[in-house]
Amino acid sequence: MKILIVEDEPEIAQLIQQTLTREGFSCSVASTGLEALEIFEQQQPDLIILDLMLPGLDGLEVCTRIRQKPTSKDPYILMLTARGEEIDRVIGLSTGADDYLVKPFSPRELAARVRALLRRSLRQVEQPSQVYRTPHFIVDLDRHIASRRGAESEEEPLDLTTLEFNLLATFISYPGRVWSRTQLIDKLWGNDFFGDDRVVDTHIRRLRKKIEPDPANPTFIKTVVGLGYKFEDEK
Ligand code: CA
Repeated sequence: MKILIVEDEPEIAQLIQQTLTREGFSCSVASTGLEALEIFEQQQPDLIILDLMLPGLDGLEVCTRIRQKPTSKDPYILMLTARGEEIDRVIGLSTGADDYLVKPFSPRELAARVRALLRRSLRQVEQPSQVYRTPHFIVDLDRHIASRRGAESEEEPLDLTTLEFNLLATFISYPGRVWSRTQLIDKLWGNDFFGDDRVVDTHIRRLRKKIEPDPANPTFIKTVVGLGYKFEDEK
């Protein structure tokens, strides 16, 4: 597991490096945002410990740029903030950081946080198969098949486009969660999306036609006025 430490204060950078090296991680250190982006390109670290206040490019900017890069694996980002930077924390997380730690922190606290984040990444890799079942649907992510469940145990495959399949899979993996159009776009198109977020409505309409008994009065994909959409499927 490779970790990139981005911190402009040498003592703190050294403390982090010592702590994580002792934990068995291989660490690189950058003291500016630009240097961090360079090392990121070369080494593709699994986790980045990113100080918020950096000279030049700050932590938020670095975070945003890293999230925009088309890489094979997305690194985990642990943001370091100074006490009292409440607003910055929130922005940091919405920028794409996975967690944050407030300075000053103890080496133990840091090590625990890093282990927790990396465990999360291992869990994702290890998931052997992904099949979601609700009372009316089965979505098999590995085989890329979505089916409607009949009265008995028969299953009727749904004829969905890739986008419709991904949309249904997104909904079904977080039942009851309200998704804004922007969140759905991020999930389905990632950074490749340019255009009007109303395009989501078009795909929702098509998916409803395929899965709803009465598309005009949807029972599964519900509109949440002013917010977006959510999926519900109860017996
Ligand atoms: Ca700093």
